[in-house]
Amino acid sequence: MTDVLTPLGERLKDPTLLKDGALIDGEWIRASAADGFPLYNPATGEVICYLPIMGTAETRDAIASSEAALRGWRATSAINRSNILRKWAELMRDSADDIASILTAEQGKPWDEARGEVIYAAGYFDWFAEEGRRVYGDVIPSNTEDARIIVLKQPVGVTAGITPWNLPAAMITRKVGPALAAGNTIVVKPAALTPLTATAIAELGLRAGLPRGVFNIVTTSKASEIGDEFTSNPVVRKLSFTGSTGVGRHLMRQAATNIQKVSMELGGNSPFIIFDDADIDQAVEGVVSAKFRNAGQICTAANRIFVQRGAHDRFAEALKIRAQNVNVGNGFGEGVEMGPLIDQKGFEKAEAHVQDMLDHGAILLAGGHAHELGRTFFEPTVITGLESDMLPWSDETFGPIASIAVFDDEDEVIAKANDTEYGLVAYLYTHDLGRTFRVSEALETGMVGVNTGRVSNQMAPFGGVKQSGLGREGSKYGIDDWLELKYINLAGLSR
Ligand code: ADP
Repeated sequence: MTDVLTPLGERLKDPTLLKDGALIDGEWIRASAADGFPLYNPATGEVICYLPIMGTAETRDAIASSEAALRGWRATSAINRSNILRKWAELMRDSADDIASILTAEQGKPWDEARGEVIYAAGYFDWFAEEGRRVYGDVIPSNTEDARIIVLKQPVGVTAGITPWNLPAAMITRKVGPALAAGNTIVVKPAALTPLTATAIAELGLRAGLPRGVFNIVTTSKASEIGDEFTSNPVVRKLSFTGSTGVGRHLMRQAATNIQKVSMELGGNSPFIIFDDADIDQAVEGVVSAKFRNAGQICTAANRIFVQRGAHDRFAEALKIRAQNVNVGNGFGEGVEMGPLIDQKGFEKAEAHVQDMLDHGAILLAGGHAHELGRTFFEPTVITGLESDMLPWSDETFGPIASIAVFDDEDEVIAKANDTEYGLVAYLYTHDLGRTFRVSEALETGMVGVNTGRVSNQMAPFGGVKQSGLGREGSKYGIDDWLELKYINLAGLSR
């Protein structure tokens, strides 16, 4: 029997998946309580384990290991690389329950949602196992009779990834999958708040047959030291980062020193637009998915919900009732739909956004306070009367606060939706086809969800415009960010 307080180790069918260390050159490096950093369960505050605080020297070692592994890995046939990735995906699915338990323990999201993330994450290995087999080049007619132009796509080389804590499985596989399928090697720094999901996935990679050094993991509570080494070590030819716009900007500046390739998946401030003709029940479920899933801690979360005046009262009332019925609790609890916020900082931000809105005249419809479970649990919240002088208009809330603004017409809502430096995703609820196209095309975002609160999947190009990022992950386009073009001018062909 397990209950919500059962220690993580006792939950696992395969306890050897719990790897409380960094992985460098195929060796696990552990720490003690005296020299490591603690990892907490956000739902209970218990210390799960301690992990190594790595810095410049260890990052250099990891990069050197990935450099040593590069030659063999890029020479491995695409089909053999693909087979390893596919096997890895299978092992992840076989261990999905265990990885979900690890994920819930360190991140807090409900176990079912965590399991869903693990399956989704494994899908990136499947997808890129296929895409890696289709890295086609070109033969181009030349400017002279005796030559042909041949274009090859080659791996970039040694790469680095920095990932956030909100999707600790998927953000690893979405980078590591295409990186390795394309023949690169990679060193990843997972977020200090969620390293164990990454290390469990890495352990399965070794079991799937990854050669040592192809995928290294460095752990730390001193992120900037590792970021500095990733961006200053000339061996690292590409950095792929997912996290906040501020840190992304800082890393891009540093990456400029060596003209390092960068991919950036940064913050969002997503508009969620509901027109009068929308199906209100569908729109409510869309907001629940795009706002209360992961307690609002996703970069695609609906930050500003724009509702056309004629639908406002019906929508606000329905969302209020739905929010009051969201089952909040420890992610291991039965039927729990929403866990705690990741840490005190996240909790304070949620509180500050609510307070700022109320100070400026918004109206609280549901929640708005610390949840009775204490710690960093926050009530699912609905507030209406959002205006441009309130914090959620310009700042990503990253908490379970649904902030509603009213609008009257299409041009007005497009202007308001675009009134942000971010451009990740927008959501749109309407059944008017003309309007669907007009608004989708006018929105300054990399993605648009029409009559849905979800846009992420392996087949589609995920990414933002404006200050939400550079590059795309997933889809047939996603592997390009991990490849270089080389052109060979093959001359002397005439007799
Ligand atoms: P969040 O607010 O979601 O935690 P961050 O951008 O702070 O977003 O964190 C995303 C990732 O970036 C994490 O792995 C974090 O440790 C890392 N990070 C934060 N600051 C730096 C930095 N200066 N250099 C490198 N990585 C960093």
